[in-house]
Amino acid sequence: MFTNQGAFVRKLEERIAHEIGVKHCAMFCNGTIAIMCLFKAWDLKGKVLVPSFTFAATTQALLWQGLPIQFIDIHQKTLTMDPERIEEAITSDTAAIFPVNIFGTCCEHEKILEIAHKYNVPLFYDSAQAFGTQYKGMPVGSLGDAEVFSFHATKLFHTGEGGAVVTNN
Ligand SMILES: *Cc1c(COP(=O)(O)O)cnc(C)c1O
Repeated sequence: MFTNQGAFVRKLEERIAHEIGVKHCAMFCNGTIAIMCLFKAWDLKGKVLVPSFTFAATTQALLWQGLPIQFIDIHQKTLTMDPERIEEAITSDTAAIFPVNIFGTCCEHEKILEIAHKYNVPLFYDSAQAFGTQYKGMPVGSLGDAEVFSFHATKLFHTGEGGAVVTNN
């Protein structure tokens, strides 16, 4: 009932997708596996830009997928990836931008989205710590091409262990 596409898992996926306002929510056994499966599914080649300040799983999940990472410094005030530093770092070898919505806050989404569009690079958010957060009235989870939540017991909303990918794609 609680795992492997059981009735409650399906129901929770539907409810989360509805609340976030996205087409799809796929539950996983934890946030780390959710990140790994997201990047595997997108089949990326090249470097992934990640913030230099995050929980270790953000980068571990990418390294376990064999994806090289490039650390981007955070902004002193927001503690999230600094959009200016992102733009400086982008090259033809950049596979994706993967900022972290840390401590229940949200990144400077509009600026980052503009950069993602300008360079045609997918934007994914590690929103493990930001379930229920909004950015200018829009739920975190609906902002990136896909986003990841963790539902570990230490997070804002939890299922004991668990995680999800939410996306319109
Ligand atoms: C907790 C967390 C994860 C990993 O989630 P788990 O469910 O513990 O695997 C990934 N990224 C960030 C930023 C986290 O806080």
